[in-house]
Amino acid sequence: IPVDSFDLVIFGGTGDLARRKILPGLFRRYCAGQVPPEAKIIGAARSEMSVEEFREMVRASIEEFGSTPHEPGQLSSFLERVHYEAVDATGDDGWEALKSHLRDDTIRAFYFSVGPSLFGAIAERLRDKGLADAESRIVVEKPFGHDLASAKSLNATLAQHFDETQIYRIDHYLGKETVQNLMAVRFGNMLFEPLWNSQYVDHIQITVAETVGVGGRGSYYDKSGAMRDMVQNHLMQLLCLIAMEPPAKFDPDAVRDEKLKVIRALDPVEPHHMVRGQYAAGGDEEGYRVHVENEKSRTESFVAMRVNISNWRWAGTPFYLRTGKRLRARTSEIAVVFKDAPHSIFGADAGRHRNVLSIRLQPNEGMTLDVTIKEPGPGGMRLVDVPLDMTFADALGPDTEAVPDAYERLIMDVIRGNQTLFMRGDEVEAAWAWTDPIIEGWEARGDVPKPYDPGGPGPEDSLMLLHRDGRRWREIK
Ligand code: NAD
Repeated sequence: IPVDSFDLVIFGGTGDLARRKILPGLFRRYCAGQVPPEAKIIGAARSEMSVEEFREMVRASIEEFGSTPHEPGQLSSFLERVHYEAVDATGDDGWEALKSHLRDDTIRAFYFSVGPSLFGAIAERLRDKGLADAESRIVVEKPFGHDLASAKSLNATLAQHFDETQIYRIDHYLGKETVQNLMAVRFGNMLFEPLWNSQYVDHIQITVAETVGVGGRGSYYDKSGAMRDMVQNHLMQLLCLIAMEPPAKFDPDAVRDEKLKVIRALDPVEPHHMVRGQYAAGGDEEGYRVHVENEKSRTESFVAMRVNISNWRWAGTPFYLRTGKRLRARTSEIAVVFKDAPHSIFGADAGRHRNVLSIRLQPNEGMTLDVTIKEPGPGGMRLVDVPLDMTFADALGPDTEAVPDAYERLIMDVIRGNQTLFMRGDEVEAAWAWTDPIIEGWEARGDVPKPYDPGGPGPEDSLMLLHRDGRRWREIK
């Protein structure tokens, strides 16, 4: 279904994010018939560049980062929708020319694909120079702040120029198909929700594992670390969706109110419930400290923690979170591990079995429910776990190829004016309010992350974190 016509300005239109995600994503939506033919996409960045040069850059980005089967001529007709203006975000140059592209009576969206230090300058000029009005939307990227104080200050700056209903803070994890499916599974079925509490759930594990190191982002990453870069935003969002109470309806504020309540119910994390790690050298790659060119670095490239949610539903059910770089596999998974059946009528020999609902964000987006059945054959009543497997690509057929990736979906949501999958300002602040004391504690104690071998599950202490509780991590595979 096509969205209404729009003019989308991408500040930072020549940058890495625009080239890898935003522009190829818009092309795929265009090919899917969702972008109306008269929509305009206007790149704005610092470099002086002709519109032909920009279109050539866009063509190359689409070819490199995500083309899609398309009719001959579709790429050229998409590129005709694309324009460019050199704009100085912190000065006066280029704004009038940019304004001349914008049409009246059309949705205006401004994507801030630039560093957060420019958010204020751009927001102010959009308003003062008359490019944005009370109906316009702005899209801002992570990192949204470095701590609570900076997030508050960013929120306050944006609030001077835009209402909260106009601000779309992207966390691309929320745009993933499986993440939305999590809500469909929880609230669309009778089967799960009655069991979704500490009476039936033993614990929940959230893992986001990467195989890559810090890559070219070393100097940025070293000032941030896994806690700020991944836990405060992505893992926290997943935790909220899995733990929240059912909202009364699927509407932006109803959903976000419930997520906020989860964050506010998080206990502070005890030091012995956290493990930090830093990848060592291995394979043909150097270790973390060489990658970030800081031989004394105490920044974590891995973090694991046990988190408690102090509310009626979850008291007594721990949530174990872990994320790290240079691990065994690129995997993102949420696993809901149910309690043992209260009594085994088959005797101890039958083995101990548990139902696990695993929600995979990658690879092979889908869900698996481990169910215990009888081991086939004449060997008596022995039990075995088999997966009820639903890989979306198999279950839904070849059409899933047309499933938009996270950025595509979120950009279309901006145009539709649907904020459900975007973080509200108070959510971001609450997440920082929980994160800050953890990081301050590490700094005050002079905590040094544990080295870990690349290609494995992270530091040994992280395995111990669950062993101590008589549990173990699911394999990263
Ligand atoms: P980048 O350095 O590749 O691009 C920055 C862009 O901003 C360029 O187009 C540049 O011309 C423009 N710019 C810089 N200063 C300007 C000024 N004074 N006036 C006008 N334009 C100016 O950065 P990026 O990797 O594309 O990231 C952009 C934002 O998105 C950052 O906040 C980053 O943290 C965030 N982000 C990036 C990724 C990613 O995969 N690259 C992922 C998530 C979030």
